[in-house]
Amino acid sequence: MKTNYDLIIIGAGPGGYVAAIKAAKAGLDTAVIESRRAGGTCLNRGCIPAKAMIHAAEVYRQSLEGAAFGIHTQGVAFDYGEILSYKQETMETLVQGVEQLLKGNGVTLINGFGQLISPEKGENRVNVSLFANEGENPSETILTAQNVILATGSKPAVLPVPGMDLPQVLDSDGLFALDRAPKSLVIIGGGVIGVEFATVFSALGTRVTILEALPKILDNFDKEISQNLKMILKKRGVDIHTGAMVQSAEAARTEDGEGVRCLYTEKDKEQAAEGEFLLCAAGRTPNLDGLFAEGAAPEMNGRFIAVDEEFRTSIPGVWAIGDATGGIQLAHAASAHGIRVIETITGEEQAQDLSLIPGCVYTDPEIASVGITEGTAKEQGIDVLAGKHIMSANGKSLITREERGFIKVVADASDLRILGAQMMCARATDMIGEFTTAMANGLTVPDLLRGVRAHPTYNEGIAEALEDVTGESLHTMPRRKR
Ligand code: FAD
Ligand code: NAD
Repeated sequence: MKTNYDLIIIGAGPGGYVAAIKAAKAGLDTAVIESRRAGGTCLNRGCIPAKAMIHAAEVYRQSLEGAAFGIHTQGVAFDYGEILSYKQETMETLVQGVEQLLKGNGVTLINGFGQLISPEKGENRVNVSLFANEGENPSETILTAQNVILATGSKPAVLPVPGMDLPQVLDSDGLFALDRAPKSLVIIGGGVIGVEFATVFSALGTRVTILEALPKILDNFDKEISQNLKMILKKRGVDIHTGAMVQSAEAARTEDGEGVRCLYTEKDKEQAAEGEFLLCAAGRTPNLDGLFAEGAAPEMNGRFIAVDEEFRTSIPGVWAIGDATGGIQLAHAASAHGIRVIETITGEEQAQDLSLIPGCVYTDPEIASVGITEGTAKEQGIDVLAGKHIMSANGKSLITREERGFIKVVADASDLRILGAQMMCARATDMIGEFTTAMANGLTVPDLLRGVRAHPTYNEGIAEALEDVTGESLHTMPRRKR
């Protein structure tokens, strides 16, 4: 087996595999070590399976609501096993696609466990425990390279409270593995994972309770978005408790049979929520177990690997990207980090603005945000103008009966440069790209209004919100004179 490369990457998630392809294209002889399947959390246990489940649940909900469009269906039902097969097929297609891309670009994909060991003769070194194919013995080998990227990602964090080891307590990996929809589900955490799974399972008829310690769900998002989502989920039967700090869990006989009781405090009172299962969605922790041989670890930043703006660790030639470094734990952020490292290694010009990472939540309606909110601008003393469009006035939204929601734009008051956008509406996660591109290129409100938008589209809502920044929106009633 070849043992010397220009670059070794540990982890083939969206950080590692994108970095590997970019490196190979730039002419670097690259090896990627992956202990599970290529594609990482995102393709195997995260974005893709979650969005497939959300899509299936959405199709089911829409089928039940067909009468609103004059479509009458009888006996609409879902088969959870078939939903899982559809999810699995989708993941498999994408994972195989990544494997083929790596191969096609000449990247060596090694199935094994990587461990950083101390450098020798100016070269960084990785010990690989190679996984055996049938009939072979597992073996160890040492690979060397000038550069090593640690892209080992993250795993669900375990809440440090009693009862988290009960069999009825699941993390997102465990919930994906269930072979049926739970009758009832208590979710710890009203963050992104919590609200996305609440969307799926409430649509499939599961009774869902969310317990969130902070005063609002989706705390990082615009206040109006959090409030609206809470209202919408409540209307769909989700029981939401904010300011609810989970203290422990215990096995219990519930109305759905053997289940779990989750004890929490809300307004200083002790409360309990029961369900067949309890999902712990209280953040993610880096995959660092066994990653560093004794004395070979770089400096840490709390639980995460410490890096500078260019993703250098404290060890020369060793870089770290993605979820393992903390910060924004998103697939596209990990990929952007990977691209930046290769640009730095090869001296290529930096292609992306890493200060602008859009955040998207695939609830119904979708939520998307980039840059700053009007509230943050005020807190930071930035003089801004804001525009807003309510989607109930948007033709496409009325056609599809998705008229709930809004688009907000924040612009610098002095030159109308776009500083942020927040949306809660159909296709928000696709449309946010327009604002990210605009901001990355320093575009202003008039710049974005120069292009004519097709009719009828959700996209017209963006034009209206932009026009509203200067009070010139055409399809809303004039603002009352103050
Ligand atoms: P990972 O994807 O975690 O990949 C790391 C890889 O390294 C893994 O394959 C692991 O097996 C491997 N590895 C670890 N240690 C070793 C070792 N020592 N040797 C060899 N291999 C090793 N993000 C979004 O942007 N959009 C979404 O819609 C979204 N939805 C999500 C839904 C869920 C339920 C979850 C859990 C996450 C979601 N995320 C989403 C987050 C996203 O999945 C992560 O931010 C992203 O996968 C991080 O990429 P990464 O490359 O840093 O790490
Ligand atoms: P999160 O940080 O988004 O939310 C965790 C929530 O749990 C927080 O709101 C926190 O206040 C709450 N919490 C913590 N301890 C608690 C306690 N004792 N009692 C009650 N509530 C408690 O984390 P997550 O939802 O687990 O998601 C993990 C990561 O995965 C996120 O960083 C996110 O970026 C990524 N992700 C992204 C997407 C997406 O982009 N659409 C989807 C899913 C996951």
